[in-house]
Amino acid sequence: MNKITNHLPTAELQAIDAAHHMHPFTNDGELGQKGARVITSAKGVFLKDSEGEEILDGMAGLWCVNIGYGNDSIAEVAARQMRELPYYNTFFQTTHVPAIALAQKLAQLAPGDLNHVFYANGGSDANDTNIRMVRTYWAEKGQPERDVIISRWNAYHGSTIGGTSLGGMKGMHGQGSLPIPGIEFIEQPNWYAEGGDMTPEEFGLARAQELEAKINEVGADKVAAFIGEPIQGAGGVIVAPDGYWAEIQRICQKYDILLIVDEVITGFGRTGNWFGSQTLDLKPDIMTVAKGLSSGYVPIGASLVSDKVAEVLAGTEFNHGYTYSGHPVACAVALENLRIMEEEGIIEHVRDVAAPYLAEKWHELADHPMVGETKIVGLMASLALTPDKDARAPFASDAGTVGLIVRERSFANNLIMRHVGDRMVISPPLVITKDEIDLLIARARKALDEGY
Ligand code: PLP
Repeated sequence: MNKITNHLPTAELQAIDAAHHMHPFTNDGELGQKGARVITSAKGVFLKDSEGEEILDGMAGLWCVNIGYGNDSIAEVAARQMRELPYYNTFFQTTHVPAIALAQKLAQLAPGDLNHVFYANGGSDANDTNIRMVRTYWAEKGQPERDVIISRWNAYHGSTIGGTSLGGMKGMHGQGSLPIPGIEFIEQPNWYAEGGDMTPEEFGLARAQELEAKINEVGADKVAAFIGEPIQGAGGVIVAPDGYWAEIQRICQKYDILLIVDEVITGFGRTGNWFGSQTLDLKPDIMTVAKGLSSGYVPIGASLVSDKVAEVLAGTEFNHGYTYSGHPVACAVALENLRIMEEEGIIEHVRDVAAPYLAEKWHELADHPMVGETKIVGLMASLALTPDKDARAPFASDAGTVGLIVRERSFANNLIMRHVGDRMVISPPLVITKDEIDLLIARARKALDEGY
């Protein structure tokens, strides 16, 4: 058997991949026919494939490589930490310096009184933690019947049993008999697709008030928490109309319901502040973070927990945790990532340079005959494909087909964009320069010009 390296011919790598590797969120039968593109290295905002092509990564991997690829100091910190203490757990009365230091740093950066950190390996299992944490919180307060969590259709909160259940992706619920009991849904604040004749503000308010209706339907004494992404990412970069979040927060406060804000995508600079909660003025009781926490260099996630919740949890043994909760290498890498973000002024770069420039160029795409709305907050953006701009109509019979075609054309043009139905989305590394934004836009426009 040949040793598998970057030097094997692409077709050979693809054949071995197809024979043995099951890809997430993929029809492996279809992929096997054409072969997966083999990514061999990356630097800055560019990936390189096994044919030597340079691909502009308009998605920062999966919305996560915030500081860009190929950062040496992260590699050095990881190697040093592996030599010094490659692993130890934080269960059973032990701790270690990387876990302590990162927890302190996160408490300092996070808004409000999110002063406590429960570590996980990624966003899905951090949300699993959240389900158990809010239910335990209410049980400890003598209200165990308060166990319902309200979420939104078309939300994404991960792919574990808990994450899938919290998410509102019906296609995912269909596989595995989900959601688990005690999860309820309200509709999403997607004005473009669902707002009809209402103004965005009227629609946003109406959608937020569905939370109150749902609480009354379930019974306020049964509801533990509401969970939402500040901006729905995997759902298509859906930005709620002004006023939506203020109303959601008013309702949560009125009924004493915990607010879980899932910042797995919006955290760590994506929206031009450390957290989307700062951009949108949200006051979470619990915040989910992952992805940009380590810029994707190693897996790590966490629940950032308010004083109010942590104080109650401190009264019991919370029988929950993962072997790799607070993994020393992951914590050291995350800490170094945050240091780089601060010292290199990456958030200022997003806010003052990259986001305004991308916004200007992205909105210019709205003049394209196939583009309905364009949306952008910080460095996460979407555009709606439409055959009829005035009607805000989707491509009727086969929603998603045209999006897939545009995505594939863009991939062939060496730009990674993603499609969610007929919405195209981007979320590039936060270090992207103006020249690279020009290239991104030129390739996106070319993909659109090639039509469907
Ligand atoms: N929550 C949100 C908002 C996400 O976007 C994601 C992943 O895309 C997750 C949770 C799940 O995170 P992970 O894939 O790290 O488990």
